[in-house]
Amino acid sequence: MVKVRRALFACMLAGATLAAGAEAQAPGPQAAHAQAILVAETAGAVHVTVELSAPVTRRAFVLEGDRPRFVLDLTGARWRPRGLPPGAGAGPGAGFAERFRYADHETGLSRLVLDLSAPGVVGEVREEALPGGGVRLIASVRPATPAVAAPPRALAQTAPTVLATASQDLRSSRRVIVVDAGHGGRDPGASGVNGSREKDMTLDAALRLRDLLEATGRYHVVLTRDADVFLPLPERLGMARDNQADLFISVHADASDNPAVHGAAVYTISERGAARGRHLAETQNWSLTSGEPVRSETVEDILLDLSQRETTHLSASFAQTVIGELAHVTPLLRNTHREAGFFVLLAPDVPAILLELGFLTNAEDEARLSDPRHRQRLMLAVTEAIDAHFASRPARMVLAQH
Ligand SMILES: [Zn+2]
Repeated sequence: MVKVRRALFACMLAGATLAAGAEAQAPGPQAAHAQAILVAETAGAVHVTVELSAPVTRRAFVLEGDRPRFVLDLTGARWRPRGLPPGAGAGPGAGFAERFRYADHETGLSRLVLDLSAPGVVGEVREEALPGGGVRLIASVRPATPAVAAPPRALAQTAPTVLATASQDLRSSRRVIVVDAGHGGRDPGASGVNGSREKDMTLDAALRLRDLLEATGRYHVVLTRDADVFLPLPERLGMARDNQADLFISVHADASDNPAVHGAAVYTISERGAARGRHLAETQNWSLTSGEPVRSETVEDILLDLSQRETTHLSASFAQTVIGELAHVTPLLRNTHREAGFFVLLAPDVPAILLELGFLTNAEDEARLSDPRHRQRLMLAVTEAIDAHFASRPARMVLAQH
């Protein structure tokens, strides 16, 4: 098994090296600065005001769970708030927001988190122009009052309770699945004993999965690539986030020094894996290179948020469902559900799995995978797993504003 793990790590490293050749994701010297943070409460709603030196892409959403949080992500901005530490810090909250925390992240993302004492829903997010090209960004979050607990009159007034449904309708009722065909272009991935290439296998499987999912009418599928092209890892990750995917599935085929090793496997992110991914990201120049690395409890805390506490749980649950379906159609690797630090699994709020269809270095696995009917069976099994995953799950109350 050690050999297997080494092979996997090599696969991950290869990806990282290739990604390093790509444009850095971190903002350049002209990055916008978040110059002020104000958290205030009006009529039960909490409003976060952030003053920025220039407009940026932003995203607001609520993370559910034991510790509900409101999250405001800014792309291409750095925290330099007046009267507060640059890079990362914290301050008092207001209303049902207990406190706010903020941190710059290596990926170029800057995050502000409100720790909420109760579940919340995202309210209005708006911008006002400031003199000199700056922007004042105001994002609101209100307590998510259960409709049953509210008296009829209040119910009539709490139109925002309906907001969750409305926003989900806007977003379309179909679940968004991002399917990532591993490798591509100048990155062929693993090579088979009889000459097959991982990048071809993964593309064919991804196209099949798309067709199967779209045919149900329940899913909107976004492919990270639909041709033999090279795509840096940050872009794959970005597509999961930009499309607010409900699921991210990265399709791969495995390789091992030991030709006897065979079987499919499913990977999800682990806390340790996430840490390794971050370390790799730093060493591979994904990180923001300006200034010294910020390390404080607050940063670690937010980084942990970024390593998807809730998402980890959802991903693991989905992985189990996939394994259950795959077991009907293909041999599985021992300890099939594994945890790793693959970059593509690092999206903070998108449940994600990395699926290894089998070992191209094993003659039987390769023969199976070279058969289009087998690939179809595999993708049918994944489709059934996706159906089962969502059948037992109400729509997420994660709202995004642009
Ligand atoms: Zn691969």
